[in-house]
Amino acid sequence: MKELEQAIETFGHIIEPDILKVDAFLNHQVNPKLMRACANTFAQKFSQAGITKVVTIESSGIAPALYTAELLDVPMVFARKKASVTMNEEVLQAEVFSFTKKTTNRISIEKRFISADDTVLIIDDFLANGQAVTGLIDMIETQAKARVAGVGIVIEKAFQPGRKLLEDNGVTIVSLARIQEFVDGHIVFAQADA
Ligand code: 5GP
Repeated sequence: MKELEQAIETFGHIIEPDILKVDAFLNHQVNPKLMRACANTFAQKFSQAGITKVVTIESSGIAPALYTAELLDVPMVFARKKASVTMNEEVLQAEVFSFTKKTTNRISIEKRFISADDTVLIIDDFLANGQAVTGLIDMIETQAKARVAGVGIVIEKAFQPGRKLLEDNGVTIVSLARIQEFVDGHIVFAQADA
C-alpha cells in the first residue's frame, strides 16, 4: 500500500537493528484515515472468505482491526495481555513472547466470544517472528475449534521468520507493507501483498 509505505518512510524510526518505531501513526498516536485505508484493503481481500469475527491483540492491533470489522460487518475481539477481574468466564489462553518488550505475556480471550462455527480474520500491527499470530491461531483453532481464514498485517518485517513459519502451516497472509531490510538508517521495501 503506497500511502502506508510513504507514512513509514516519513515517520518511521529504526530504533534497534530490527525494530521500527511508528508511534506517530500506529503505535501511540493513531492516524484514523490511514487505518481506515488499511482496513479497506483487508476487508476487500477477505470479502469472500465468510469472516464472522476479526481478532487482534491489544493495543496496537485494535485500530486497524476495528475498522476492518466494521467494513465486514462483524464483531472485533481483542486478546487481553493482562487478565482482568471482569474476565471470570472460561478463557482461551496462549503464552506469547513479546518481540519488542522481551517478556512473555499470557494473552486471553473469553471462550464465549469465539465458537466452533466462527471463521476468523486475524489482524495485527507487525509481523516479526510470528509469535503473536501463532498464539492467536492456537487459541482460535486448537482451543476454540474455530477456523482462521487468514491474517492481515499492517507492517511485516520480511527479514524475520514469521511469514515462513505461518505459511509453512498453511496460513494465508496479507501484508500491506513488507520491509526487506534496514540499510544505513533507510528502509528497503519488498513487494507487499496489497
Ligand atoms: P512477533 O510475535 O511476530 O514476533 O511480533 C509481533 C508483535 O511484536 C506485534 O504485535 C508488535 O506489537 C510487536 N513488534 C514486532 N516487531 C516490531 C517492530 O519492529 N516495531 C514495533 N513497534 N512493534 C513490533
